[in-house]
Amino acid sequence: MSQRVITFGCRLNACESDIISDFVRELGADDFVLINTCAVTREAERKLCQTIRKLHREDKNVRIILTGCASELNPQRYLRMNGVMEVISNERKLFRSEYLKYSAPGTEETKEKTPPRKIRGFLQIQNGCDQKCTYCVVRLARGPNVSFPKDEILLQAQRLLSKGYVEIVLTGVNISAYGRDLAGGENLASIIRHLLKNIPQLERLRLSSLDPADVDESLLELIKNEERLMPHFHQSVQSGDDLILKRMLRRHRRQQVLEASHKILEARPEAVLGADMIVGFPTETEPMFENTKRIIREARLSLLHVFSFSGRPGTAAAAMPQVERNVIRRRAKELKLLAREVLAEKLSQYVDQKVMAVGEGGENARTDSFLAVRAKEKLAAGQKYLLRGEEVANGVLLSVVVGKQ
Ligand code: SF4
Repeated sequence: MSQRVITFGCRLNACESDIISDFVRELGADDFVLINTCAVTREAERKLCQTIRKLHREDKNVRIILTGCASELNPQRYLRMNGVMEVISNERKLFRSEYLKYSAPGTEETKEKTPPRKIRGFLQIQNGCDQKCTYCVVRLARGPNVSFPKDEILLQAQRLLSKGYVEIVLTGVNISAYGRDLAGGENLASIIRHLLKNIPQLERLRLSSLDPADVDESLLELIKNEERLMPHFHQSVQSGDDLILKRMLRRHRRQQVLEASHKILEARPEAVLGADMIVGFPTETEPMFENTKRIIREARLSLLHVFSFSGRPGTAAAAMPQVERNVIRRRAKELKLLAREVLAEKLSQYVDQKVMAVGEGGENARTDSFLAVRAKEKLAAGQKYLLRGEEVANGVLLSVVVGKQ
């Protein structure tokens, strides 16, 4: 039986699963399923249990290994489930030695180069977080902020490019905290500069979520002057109401979101802004929810991830007065509708306009600013195309190819 790596959750998990897959392939490790788990919502853990039960139903001899935040926070619960052999801690999940015991005896290490299926390689620059957001379970599972050494990050970036990835996405639990635990005034801007200076062949660098409170002058300077930094900036906004932000223990207030967004667009007018939003946080009233809806247009946010609040065990927010589930569902529906509206408005700016995008396989492509584009013909994955927008449909810019780069 072959081995499989199943990933739940965030880009950080995807990044780690990519590295684990390399270990497993190189070791010729076999005969197990590894699941990189997520605990960010109740729904994520429900799907995990469903997957474990399905794997065992399909094969009573299945050997399941768990790692990631859900198994980190509750190992005994999962070890009691049929088929689950082992839980590997978040701290040890990237240790090659953890997978040696699964390598088939006599299997020579294979160095074959596997062509990438994806365009984007995720590059982890730090782990953990020192902040204490009241809804967050990730910090409980991943521990304090640990910035990775610059040379190690450089090596990993070169590894991703050597695998043929076209773009690299800097990721972590909180990339805005990069460098705070290092000497010499390192920060997110300094590691971006270090990568772009030392890897001239790195043409497309993307950032994962930013903390609005950390959009500082050094980062804005790079956003303005570094065209290899792709013009899509996603912020961890969460709410547009100051009292809710205070109860979330977020470091920013709505004014800082507005300032950060406007400064980014001033520095890079073609940029597209995205944000994470939580609806139904404990004590959220209708007027507070209206403040969240209003900030989307005021901050000119176009690519939104909407999360319904669910109280996670061990978090302060789980003990606060909860908003009724049906109210949360209704607000999530309303915010997702608004998200579709603002995205359609952003995409319609490219109708009858030319736009560059990178093929993602099939007819699909993404612009530098991370907008989804679909052509009328097959596009080569990783190839750059010049397209002309024709119309907007379901969050995608339908377009025709007018050139190749
Ligand atoms: S910044 Fe807040 S939400 Fe993000 S990982 Fe840290 S504690 Fe969690």
